[in-house]
Amino acid sequence: MHQVLSVGRSLSIQAHPDKELAEYLHKAQPSVYKDPNHKPEMALALTEFEALCGFISSEELDIVLDMVPEINEVVSNASVDQHDGEVKGRDLRSIFTKLISIDRDVIFKALSKLVNRLTRENETRQLTSKEELVLKLEKQYPNDVGVLASLLLNLVKLEPGDGLYIGANEPHAHLNGECIECMATSDNVVRAGLTPKYMDVKTLCSMLTYKQGLPEILKGVPINQYVRRYTPPFEEFEVDQCVVDQGGSVVFPALPGPSVFVVISGEGMMLTSTSEDGVSEGDALFAPAGTEVQVSSESEVRVYRAGVNNKVLLNP
Ligand SMILES: [Zn+2]
Repeated sequence: MHQVLSVGRSLSIQAHPDKELAEYLHKAQPSVYKDPNHKPEMALALTEFEALCGFISSEELDIVLDMVPEINEVVSNASVDQHDGEVKGRDLRSIFTKLISIDRDVIFKALSKLVNRLTRENETRQLTSKEELVLKLEKQYPNDVGVLASLLLNLVKLEPGDGLYIGANEPHAHLNGECIECMATSDNVVRAGLTPKYMDVKTLCSMLTYKQGLPEILKGVPINQYVRRYTPPFEEFEVDQCVVDQGGSVVFPALPGPSVFVVISGEGMMLTSTSEDGVSEGDALFAPAGTEVQVSSESEVRVYRAGVNNKVLLNP
């Protein structure tokens, strides 16, 4: 399944449970967790695209706690892992758990202090992109703990053509830009802020991996002159980006699994042994397993193909 996503307003910070947890949650709370599936997903940027993804490194966490007293205050007694009186460093898991669980009035006070300070300082210095993000998010989601939590996540900026995949149990949020999003068929989401919807804080805090550092950005591997393949490390799917210049033509060989093609822009023809369709922006075509598909272009045509991850099909 895939969709074209245009993000104007930031979407909620969320994580998707792994298969085992999804099965458990669906059994325990079927009205909240509607299916027993996991939901690996990948975004391919069509424009410049911004997202929050994964937790910041320990070094960056130290900087945030030193530079943002408003956060430091609310997490202060969670922020240091002490052993026999010796400070062992800051523990991300307890800091995040403390932050995401604090009372609304504490969030309100910390946020208004932070926003006032940044608004003041904005007149005398250039704010960092994270600080600018805080001001923007607070306007969209006033008094939302996700605005503070965003400081603990990596701000990832994608260029057109970059791919970002989201593993199970990793916090993420789409902020702005346009992308092709490909995901497995599931609606299971555990929210972590930037949302008026239900937040299952206990499940969230226990499920996250607390892996730290920047996520991997996929650049795609060229398959031929017109096609780049993006292969995330899960078995559900891979995505081909295909841009055929005017008058050009490319063949997608028959594959052992089914594919879905979506035309993003331009005009052209899509041919199989049994069909011949003129296609343009917004058209989608399903190709069953074993179908060879030829794409030819009348004006530069941009097509995405999502299919089962071939690595899995070829080496079961
Ligand atoms: Zn998601």
